[in-house]
Amino acid sequence: MDKKELAQRFSKKIKDLCPEREVRAIHVCGTHEQAITRYGLRSLLPDNFDLKMGPGCPVCVTPARVIDRAIKLARKGLTLATFGDMLNVPGSSSSLSDAKSDGADVKVVYSVNEAIKIAKKIDNDLVFLGVGFETTAPSNAAVLERGVPSNFSILTCHRLIPPAMELLVNLENVNFDGFIAPGHVSTIIGEDPYEKFVSEYDMSTVIAGFEPLDILFAVLKFVKQIDEEIIQLENAYERAVRPEGNIKAKEALNRVFKVVDAEWRGIGEIEDSGLRLKDEYSKFDARKKHDVTLEESRDVHPGCICHLVLTAQKTPKECNLFKEKCTPQNPYGPCMVSEEGECNIWYQYGERP
Ligand code: SF4
Repeated sequence: MDKKELAQRFSKKIKDLCPEREVRAIHVCGTHEQAITRYGLRSLLPDNFDLKMGPGCPVCVTPARVIDRAIKLARKGLTLATFGDMLNVPGSSSSLSDAKSDGADVKVVYSVNEAIKIAKKIDNDLVFLGVGFETTAPSNAAVLERGVPSNFSILTCHRLIPPAMELLVNLENVNFDGFIAPGHVSTIIGEDPYEKFVSEYDMSTVIAGFEPLDILFAVLKFVKQIDEEIIQLENAYERAVRPEGNIKAKEALNRVFKVVDAEWRGIGEIEDSGLRLKDEYSKFDARKKHDVTLEESRDVHPGCICHLVLTAQKTPKECNLFKEKCTPQNPYGPCMVSEEGECNIWYQYGERP
């Protein structure tokens, strides 16, 4: 049986099992949204099954204040290295790309290791702006433990997915039955952090891989739980996710970072949802090493509804600026910048049916 036939078979089973009432699931992963939208998976689901995306794009949730700080550091004369997407993320009033156009030394890198290689070749102080969820934080922890040049420091903006999922559960106007949990993040954190969604909130939670068939398989498990009224945590991505996660990566994170309350762009502060460098690493902490004065920041620009898109309250096409004032070539809001942003994905691959 080829993949298309298998997808049709999953689709039929999902439709057969799905109760007549509206069933709602939220996933929190840009890669999931890419597969769902690109391969039209929503068209294979029953009309009464609503699958939305939550805050699963690390670029999108990076607060404007962090971008503003990076811009200030770059304009102050430091070398600023970061991933390509970060250049176009709007800060409060400008972007790193604007700073680069004005002559600031802003370099695009593909990894923290590349940033370190650059730091070794220059005399200037280099700041690496490192954003991401539990998946990218371990590589930053590893390089700091191995040792970095004295002119290197890191401006971290790492966010943790389970606390953001819990925020969604507690939002009054977001009603749903459970989560399709992210495969990448789960390879690091394992299954345990999701247990509370079942035990405390009575929500189905199924960990999913990234192939279209992986996602359909996870949705089938999800619908089966609803149909049988057996709410539980299931791992539908066993080939990559171990129950305990990646113990070495988790230990490295614990040695280098501490968990702190953290701001999510347009969403506000979420308890215990961010990572900051521990005091032992403060000489590599750009926030402590390079002082800058920041004005009041602005996460949400007039007309942009990214904060509502990120919390599964609205879809990109409910934004008046979608495809008009806001495009990947000229992003007005953060969700249009990255390939993991929902507005960008809908623009690239078409809107959900
Ligand atoms: Fe924000 Fe643009 Fe998406 Fe509208 S289309 S929500 S302005 S990113």
